[in-house]
Amino acid sequence: MDNVNCPHCGDSERIVRYRGWDRLHHVPGEFTLVECVCCRFLYLSPRPNDEELEQYYPDDYLSFRPPLTEERSPIRRFDRMIGLRRRCDVVAKKVPSGSLLDIGCGTGDFLAVLETYRGWKVRGLEPHETAATIAREKYKLEVDQCRIDQASYPPDSFDAVTLWDVLEHVDNPRCALKRIREFLRPDGLVVIGVPNRDSFDASLFGPAWAGLDLPRHFSVFSFAHLSECLRVAGFDRVTMSNLNGGYHSFALSVRFWLDRHPSRGWSTALVLGMVNSPAIRLASLPYFLVLKWLRRGSTMIVTARRPTNGT
Ligand SMILES: [Zn+2]
Repeated sequence: MDNVNCPHCGDSERIVRYRGWDRLHHVPGEFTLVECVCCRFLYLSPRPNDEELEQYYPDDYLSFRPPLTEERSPIRRFDRMIGLRRRCDVVAKKVPSGSLLDIGCGTGDFLAVLETYRGWKVRGLEPHETAATIAREKYKLEVDQCRIDQASYPPDSFDAVTLWDVLEHVDNPRCALKRIREFLRPDGLVVIGVPNRDSFDASLFGPAWAGLDLPRHFSVFSFAHLSECLRVAGFDRVTMSNLNGGYHSFALSVRFWLDRHPSRGWSTALVLGMVNSPAIRLASLPYFLVLKWLRRGSTMIVTARRPTNGT
């Protein structure tokens, strides 16, 4: 485990906010989320080093799940397709066509759907070998198997770069964004989807909020921190929104919250059954629309541009 200073401002003074464990895969270990005294950034320290981290990304980790084409349940397939189309629309509304790099592309679902939009040439970057191989073999995608800090592309290579649920896993977000800026053409777009520290779910569930996902998430961003990070990395025109939905994250947070009270037996099973019921999900739609309107959804979508003067 490595102790690190604040990735946002570099200060070493911090206070402990949460102690927790791997609630998703139950790999042993206890972890600490700390808040920087200087800038209030929330980050994991100490954190697993590269070798230790591998065990926290098993082959059944969410991003490495089988591609959409192999999803057996028609409802889940439809559900995943809606989510992927929403992501594609975020990009296509701001950049109608061009070349795109998806960092942390997993098994390639997002790129495969975007390829069906007119005029898009896509490429992926994925450090996990199995996921990268699936993306190449199932979708015939061009995928580079490496991390963002190992990536090497000529300057001005892409019109857009996307990071869906990725930046919170990165060791040094500011360095990563500076590299991305080099790959982007002037006026190019970066799209970042990350858990929203200022979300209602984060307040409601506290340590059980799925957005914390210890120890895989190294950083927990508020919009204020992420927009400052983007500006320091040389981006401008920063915007923030929430996608429709957020039910999966909510349901996972409920499960994590119930895991803290395992002795409740039948009532736990009842609540989990209700949360997983399509009727409850349908009835909850207005709640998530209000959260989106208030910009308090569990995941925020932040976009920014490389300045047009190219400096
Ligand atoms: Zn700080």
